[in-house]
Amino acid sequence: MKEIVRTRFAPSPTGHLHIGGARTTLYNWLFARHHGGQFVLRIEDTDEVRSTTDSVSAIFDSISWLGLDWDEGPLDMEHEKGPNGSYFQMKRLPLYQEQIQKLLQEGKAYPCYCTKEELEVIRKDAQKENRASYDGRCRRLTDRQKKDYEASGRKPAIRFEMPEEGETVVNDIIRGPVSFTNRLLPDLVIQKTTGGPTYNFACVVDDHAMSISHVIRGDEHLSNTPAQIQIYKALGFSLPQFAHLSMIMGPDGTKLSKRHGATSVLEYKEQGFLPEALRNYLALLGWATAESKQLFTPKELIQAFDLAGCQKNPATFDQVKLSWMNGEYMRAFSPADIIARSETFLKGAGLLPQLPGPSLEKLAALEREKFKLLKDVPDRIGFFYRDFEFTPEAEKVLAKPEVKDVLSGLAALLESFEPFEDKALEGAIRQFCTQKGLKPGQVFHPLRAAVSGRTEGPTLFLMLELMGRELVLKRLRRAG
Ligand code: GLU
Repeated sequence: MKEIVRTRFAPSPTGHLHIGGARTTLYNWLFARHHGGQFVLRIEDTDEVRSTTDSVSAIFDSISWLGLDWDEGPLDMEHEKGPNGSYFQMKRLPLYQEQIQKLLQEGKAYPCYCTKEELEVIRKDAQKENRASYDGRCRRLTDRQKKDYEASGRKPAIRFEMPEEGETVVNDIIRGPVSFTNRLLPDLVIQKTTGGPTYNFACVVDDHAMSISHVIRGDEHLSNTPAQIQIYKALGFSLPQFAHLSMIMGPDGTKLSKRHGATSVLEYKEQGFLPEALRNYLALLGWATAESKQLFTPKELIQAFDLAGCQKNPATFDQVKLSWMNGEYMRAFSPADIIARSETFLKGAGLLPQLPGPSLEKLAALEREKFKLLKDVPDRIGFFYRDFEFTPEAEKVLAKPEVKDVLSGLAALLESFEPFEDKALEGAIRQFCTQKGLKPGQVFHPLRAAVSGRTEGPTLFLMLELMGRELVLKRLRRAG
């Protein structure tokens, strides 16, 4: 029988959804969709101190903004869908308790009364001697010793007893077999002194309870996997398949972090990236097709994606490539779509509702090739509607000695020239150059700088036509 593919994304809600988490989500989603399986969202909120509902909301918002959906999981803080809930770990505590009791009864786990200070000393000694970070001293406590500890007010954590001999092999789909020496695996805390489960334990119980077939996650979790495998075995659970995704680096070769700029998905949204472009880009951050195809429709991506194409070497996050890709997506939009998609940015810049002057759509058509981000739309076309500051480059152009005459000559010409249209204007202005014995650049550059405040921009004569006579004259006079 063909196995049903079930994947999950299991974030700890302790901050925004970052690029790495977004890629993990995407790969899990793509893999499930590719195989006609299911994708589960599970919130791992067992860290009572660091988990926040704001982070949970940011995770929902980020995943939804990327255009990804989940078949099972929370819909908001109160509602959920799917038969394997709750999908918040803090609402599943009895399930973990039950399994912990089982391990205790079978002698596979034990209470540990060591204090923080004692553990610190044990850890330091272990480091010196290259041993597991806990020495198992509470493994064989007598009932008397346990009672004494309890009487002294110590609350125990529960530890899982790791095998001392042999190796645990993680058969990773991406990395192949990775071997860990059991002697170096510490007896893991599975229940904290506060009574809550630890990540490594809850994760195993839930992945089993939720019938997860493939655990696809970031490479930082590879070192947790041997311990998790031992817990699976002790609980009598069959193993899922594991796939650990390559690390994501910044351009300087160090792990991607705040230092490299925006790292959260919602920051990319705010900067004017398109979700479809970011999704396409993230798909290629550690995965490639044999022919290195770059641009994918969502359908193509689902069709092409498989774990076989995932690489184990670190991937480099390349902001330049992401911006290029975003520009590619923007160029494929109609001018009406460009305006619709950049609505928030246009509103934010005061360009919507539509101001008097050329239609936003016309300007979007004019500048279409130049947009890389949605926020470029108001940035590039705002000068059609309101006054602007001159860029230093424009000021330099306008400071040349002959410019005053050029601009006043142009103003005189354009005051009555008909028709005020692209081609006709070009003809007239070229003639003006010849008459004055000037090279086209000596006229075009100051003209552009005077009416737009910059030295680059839309094609000059169409820009004049769209701006209209009145505004062009006003600006020529202002700059002249
Ligand atoms: N809660 C873990 C994290 O956010 C998930 C690890 C996993 O996918 O197993 O890092």
